[in-house]
Amino acid sequence: MNPASVRNLQRKCFYALTTLALLATAGYLNLYQIIETQEVSAAVINLSGRQRMLTQKAALLSLQLVESKRPEQQQKIRRELTEVITLLEKTHQGLIHGDAARHLPSHLSAQMRAIYFEPPDRLDIKMQTFIAASRALLKETNNNLSYNNPRLQYILSAAQGELLQTIDKAVSQYQAESEKANRKIQNFALTVLIVTLLVLTLEALLIFRPMIRLLRREAKQLSDYNIQLQQLSTHDALTGIANRRSFDEFIHRRWQQAAGELSWLAVIMVDIDYFKNYNDTYGHQAGDACLRQVAASLRDSLHQSAGLVARYGGEEFAVVLPNTDLKSAYTAAEILRQSIEDRCIPHLGSHCSKYVTVSLGVAATIPSLSGSPQSLIEQADQALYRAKNEGRNRVCTAASIITGAVSLL
Ligand code: GH3
Ligand code: MG
Ligand code: MG
Repeated sequence: MNPASVRNLQRKCFYALTTLALLATAGYLNLYQIIETQEVSAAVINLSGRQRMLTQKAALLSLQLVESKRPEQQQKIRRELTEVITLLEKTHQGLIHGDAARHLPSHLSAQMRAIYFEPPDRLDIKMQTFIAASRALLKETNNNLSYNNPRLQYILSAAQGELLQTIDKAVSQYQAESEKANRKIQNFALTVLIVTLLVLTLEALLIFRPMIRLLRREAKQLSDYNIQLQQLSTHDALTGIANRRSFDEFIHRRWQQAAGELSWLAVIMVDIDYFKNYNDTYGHQAGDACLRQVAASLRDSLHQSAGLVARYGGEEFAVVLPNTDLKSAYTAAEILRQSIEDRCIPHLGSHCSKYVTVSLGVAATIPSLSGSPQSLIEQADQALYRAKNEGRNRVCTAASIITGAVSLL
């Protein structure tokens, strides 16, 4: 991933997360507003409803005051009526001017203002008149406290008629406004939800999906690089077969294994005959092509799947054959030699054939844990040296196997 696309991705992620953070904040504020609106609505509806109840109670107490004959009972009613009127006035002022302690808002809507101050309702004046009449009744002497008292008549008719209806109207208006406020908040909450879902969908499509695709591509590229790196570190670049490093690892592993199992391990060293002359005759490029053909022939002709063909260095190859004794290794080597000759790659510089040929040296042993594969390789090398000396294009085996003096041929 280049730095520019990383920065681009970072920027996109930043915007995506910021948008979500803003939406989450809007959601929280909305919730906060819902709670606050509910509190205010509940308080207003509750208190305006209580005004209704208080006017009824004031009217009832006024009537009881007139009907009451016993002074102590009258005292009690007067006290109660005073409390009711005080509460009525306090609540009325709270509803009009606001009262933070009781969650009452400090301003009225246009409709509520009209109900309180404009004709035909004028609730403020009606309420104040009702309160004033109640207070005046309280001040009346016992002589004037009769059923015909005009203040009592006013209180009773207002509490049953005009005032009651206007209070009911105010309560209904408060309820309607509360419902309207709730609907507004619900709509806002729905809008926030829809916008959040939309933003999430857009982010999924425009940011996260391309990001995942990019990451997948990067992961695939990385895994390809790893495979290539693995291939490069274990295989020969020119011929594509295992390299010297793989050969060393393989033979050491197989040596340990064979030593544990007491099984045979064989090595064949292969060298192209008169290859310097081949280069001199056909050029270095052709020499490379020849090396590739020889490597392919050796790899394809090795019938033992557990074995390994590696480029040992220059125009030399090495074959490791687990579970193979000297005789079987000799047979395998002969097959390899034949496969190269059968390719009929012209070689005018060779003194032993018209075609490219190889000489092979074979050695086998039952490894011991204290020994090392090096001695086996040296034995195979000596056998190769003999094959060269005896005329090339042939297979020679080691005169003895490493662990003893066993000679095959
Ligand atoms: P002999 O039959 O005794 O093995 O003779 P030879 O000429 O094959 O042996 P010598 O060791 O004299 O020459 C090996 C040549 O292999 C020399 C070198 O230029 C060539 N060679 C080694 N590696 C490469 C390679 O990667 N590509 C090419 N084209 N030639 C290589
Ligand atoms: Mg050589
Ligand atoms: Mg050679």
